Amino acid sequence: MKEKIQEIFKQRFGTDSVVYASAGRINLIGEHTDYNGGFVFPGAIDKYIMAAININGTGKVRVYSMDMDAYCEFGLNEEDAPQEQWARYIFGVCRETIKRGGTVKGFDTVFAGNVPLGAGLSSSAALESCFAFALNDMFNENKIDKFELAKIGQSTEHNYCGVNCGIMDQFASVFGKKDCLMRLDCRSLEHEYFPFHPEGYRLVLLNSKVKHELVDSPYNKRRESCERVAATLGVETLRDASYTMLADVRDKVSDEDYRRARYVIGEKQRVLDVCDALERGDYETVGRCMYETHDGLSRDYEVSCEELDYLNDVARECGVTGSRIMGGGFGGCTINLVKEDRYDNFIATAKEKFNAKYGHEPEVINVIISDGAHKVVD
Ligand code: ADP
Ligand code: MG
Repeated sequence: MKEKIQEIFKQRFGTDSVVYASAGRINLIGEHTDYNGGFVFPGAIDKYIMAAININGTGKVRVYSMDMDAYCEFGLNEEDAPQEQWARYIFGVCRETIKRGGTVKGFDTVFAGNVPLGAGLSSSAALESCFAFALNDMFNENKIDKFELAKIGQSTEHNYCGVNCGIMDQFASVFGKKDCLMRLDCRSLEHEYFPFHPEGYRLVLLNSKVKHELVDSPYNKRRESCERVAATLGVETLRDASYTMLADVRDKVSDEDYRRARYVIGEKQRVLDVCDALERGDYETVGRCMYETHDGLSRDYEVSCEELDYLNDVARECGVTGSRIMGGGFGGCTINLVKEDRYDNFIATAKEKFNAKYGHEPEVINVIISDGAHKVVD
């Protein structure tokens, strides 16, 4: 991909360029935990946004998106915001860097990627992190620390793209490391790397390609349930709650709120259990925890949907080690940890059965845990 992008860059802008990349991400476990002060457990994947860049000596940024086959140029002041959504990610990163006292000057860039868009792998975070990292390297002697780079991406989503996201996606894209997953504590923002090189297993996502639009903003409702239970327990977030504490207020909270909290408390423990298991190289326990998460999300948290439950059932039937919904729910992907020798049968069966039931095949996305933001050298 590097040579191709540099070639297009040279055709368009007539100079050599330097290439940067950043990755999409998966989250192995730890779902709906961020706003409860809990843990998430993401890793960067071998799907990237890659950008060839060169300083152009003007006050303008000139961008060509290979995948959109679209060109855009903009200045670096607040009023120069472009209309095109894809360009706003880059403009936002420039602005957020400047707002933090960083330097950004005019540059030319050509970029492309292979992170599937809108599949829950965070192509937008890959895009932001790629440029945040590049601007830090080109104009700021890498003085902006890595966590701030992630926040530049997050603020870009908030302030220029209308997406009120947490920090996980940008964190994973910036901090990602080959063969490692990262446990991010969403309360303290501390993180720790854990080894993830499941020899003899593959990690594969099945994208159901369905997205159920729901009328009554289910995310806010889940949040409110968690907040009500936390208030009843007298704790700040459910991070500080245990099953025993929850049992003590069983008759003071609604049945629904009880089940929501039961999921969140279980999920906090499952992330810790998965970390322990990975240190032992015990992928069977990892897989079991993934199934438990799916069940919790489906039955207690009620954010699954028919199609995802079906893919999960097929995974069980095919002897897949672990499988669960990835992301907020109501559609998108399942993430599956599957033994090599079961892989072919699983994929064939899932495609066939899903297609027979829902009229289209799920998209198969194989992933390998890889490096996050970096400069691409030969
Ligand atoms: P995701 O879940 O993949 O992050 P988003 O809707 O948040 O989905 O972000 C997708 C948007 O990011 C696209 O609509 C586009 O504006 C931008 N984007 C992502 N990848 C590319 C790409 N390869 N080329 C151009 N724009 C991209
Ligand atoms: Mg996104």
